[in-house]
Amino acid sequence: MKTRTILLSIAGHDPTGGAGLQADIETAHAFGVYPTTVVTALTAQDSHNVYALFPQSQEAFRQQLEVLVADLPPGAIKVGLIGSEKLIPSIAEICRRLKVPVVVDPVLEASGGTELASEALIEKLRRELLPKATLATPNLQEARRLTGEERPEACAAKLLELGCRAVLITGGDEEGDEVIDQLWTEEGDWCFRGERLAEGAHGSGCTLSSACAALLARGVPLVEAVREAIGWTRRAIAEGWRPSKGQKFPQRLAPRP
Ligand code: PLP
Repeated sequence: MKTRTILLSIAGHDPTGGAGLQADIETAHAFGVYPTTVVTALTAQDSHNVYALFPQSQEAFRQQLEVLVADLPPGAIKVGLIGSEKLIPSIAEICRRLKVPVVVDPVLEASGGTELASEALIEKLRRELLPKATLATPNLQEARRLTGEERPEACAAKLLELGCRAVLITGGDEEGDEVIDQLWTEEGDWCFRGERLAEGAHGSGCTLSSACAALLARGVPLVEAVREAIGWTRRAIAEGWRPSKGQKFPQRLAPRP
């Protein structure tokens, strides 16, 4: 019987399918990895913005996670929107026990402007979850909020100090003709430059972080995984489509003709 590598996504549900778990599911399939999912929070949102967040209860979440990983152990874990600090101890415990690559995408604010993380959540993220991350993928604003630093290199240094093994600070939300994504690891740093597209896409951070996690699950070395994930995500954004009047959505899977 053929086995397939599993990517466990612990993230929020976006009913539009542009971001969150559905973004992770599509990305996992695009990379030939099988996705399993545990929902942290439901959301009320459309293609413009997030309007409300409904986190799962601590006990329901813990049980779903425990039962799942005991039966379908993942080759990597991706953590996206968490929604409540009460869920962090269970996530940190699973990461500690499974000893597989962990990609943490610290989702703090929706691109439409809604806050998605309280100060209590950010504090627990810093203390309990980021130290377990093989790779953290904040955008520059999130990196600043997590560290209190201003310059990308100072943010990265603080995140590495917290215990992240590598930090990818994305520049998609910044200004300028070029998008600069910067990777810092204990071994050195890398810069990935690309032409800025006319428009971003809803769920691009989820897409990039789950692409990194899918490649790590397949055993691709970190720098190579990040390079390939960035190239693939930029293509998905460039080919993005607009389902309604709001933001564009990335094109992660080729539509059937
Ligand atoms: N909803 C969910 C469930 C998410 O995970 C995210 C981002 O990760 C968002 C909404 C916001 O997505 P974006 O900032 O790309 O619009």
